[in-house]
Amino acid sequence: MDFNLSEEQQYVRDVARKFADERLYPRAGEFDHNAELDREAIKEMAELGLMGVKVPEDYGGTGLDNLAYTISIEELARGCASHALVAAVHGSLFAMPLLEFGTEEQKQKFLPPVCAGEKMAAYSLSEAGSGSDAASLSLQADDDGDNYILNGTKLWVTQGSIADYIIVFATVDREKKTKGIVALVIETDQPGFSVGKNEVKMGYKASPTSELIFDDYKVPKAHQIGEVGRGFNIAMETLNHGRISVGAQSVGMAQRALEIATVYSQQRTQFGQELAKFQGIQFKLADMQAKLHAARMVTYEAAWKKDQGMKVIKDAAIAKMYASEVGTEIAHQAMQILGGYGYTHEYNVERIYRDVRLCEIFEGTNEVQRIVIARELLKEMAVEK
Ligand SMILES: Cc1cc2nc3c(=O)[nH]c(=O)nc-3n(C[C@H](O)[C@H](O)[C@H](O)COP(=O)(O)OP(=O)(O)OC[C@H]3O[C@@H](n4cnc5c(N)ncnc54)[C@H](O)[C@@H]3O)c2cc1C
Repeated sequence: MDFNLSEEQQYVRDVARKFADERLYPRAGEFDHNAELDREAIKEMAELGLMGVKVPEDYGGTGLDNLAYTISIEELARGCASHALVAAVHGSLFAMPLLEFGTEEQKQKFLPPVCAGEKMAAYSLSEAGSGSDAASLSLQADDDGDNYILNGTKLWVTQGSIADYIIVFATVDREKKTKGIVALVIETDQPGFSVGKNEVKMGYKASPTSELIFDDYKVPKAHQIGEVGRGFNIAMETLNHGRISVGAQSVGMAQRALEIATVYSQQRTQFGQELAKFQGIQFKLADMQAKLHAARMVTYEAAWKKDQGMKVIKDAAIAKMYASEVGTEIAHQAMQILGGYGYTHEYNVERIYRDVRLCEIFEGTNEVQRIVIARELLKEMAVEK
């Protein structure tokens, strides 16, 4: 296995790192405090090609591979998790279902403005009664000739309140369970769509998380992605991409927390010497570094396998689960190394601690990831009886 990054992957890493260091990180505390994304920064991200790294150039993207995309998300999250999430929603959760299952017309219509940052996008699977058990969703899609009529509500939609286009998953018949689920692209400027409450959250505060209400909303069948009954499969395939992105966000945040702690430990003196001279602190830093490296490797490997066309259900789940837990642990230890200052806004560690915790919950909780990993392992090593 070649661990060297290609020139293109290095280029994207450098561009994203520079942008995160110069444009995102210095203002990440302000974005968090104001609970607002910076639309100018989003436009700049798009101009740099960071909103559709793996979307082909024909559809307005940068046309690179999945590993390049994953690295770009990691670097952006090292600057600001909420803005990294915009790039992940646009470049993966919204783009991938269209690229893999959409029609040529759908790709041409929806992808270029989203990669250009002119239109905001979202992905809406979860509902109040349907979280981990995503197949039990209840947003109703009634057949009405050339259209579906949508009625019901969706919950927890990242960017739901500011999105122009949203991929929603609905059911034509709940009795049919997964076989009744359909994926549709909706436009939010049409009658019958409204935004309900916005969640007040612990972290990722600049990223809005919203309830969506559909009241006799008409969506043309031309906006249906794949066939009826394929929707659940499309949702799950998309999450295989998304989970690698969550691993990347966790790695980026953990990297920043480790950097802050490593620098601080060499500046702070107690008992007449730098904190970094205490072996107890060195052991913490060493564990953080080793775990971060392992988390980065499982995340990159999952992305690389996807580029090779290999099955990544288990790898994506491992990347998401492991990197998010390591991310939380590293943020926790970084806060400890900073002592009282770790608990204040001054050094950003408390924000990272709040942000990275989400990665254990969204795009399938880590319990769900464990179910997926165990299921795949038991299939691979099934004992003949
Ligand atoms: C900030 C934020 C942004 C989000 N963005 C989006 C988005 O853009 N689009 C979208 O569709 N969704 C989004 N979500 C929803 C997210 O994916 C769900 O919250 C998540 O899948 C968990 O669902 P739930 O909250 O209903 O928890 P539940 O499913 O109710 O789970 C509660 C607890 O029970 C555990 N549990 C459930 N089933 C099992 C089981 N079989 N075995 C063991 N334990 C189990 C869970 O792991 C969890 O610990 C977002 C959520 C948040 C918080």
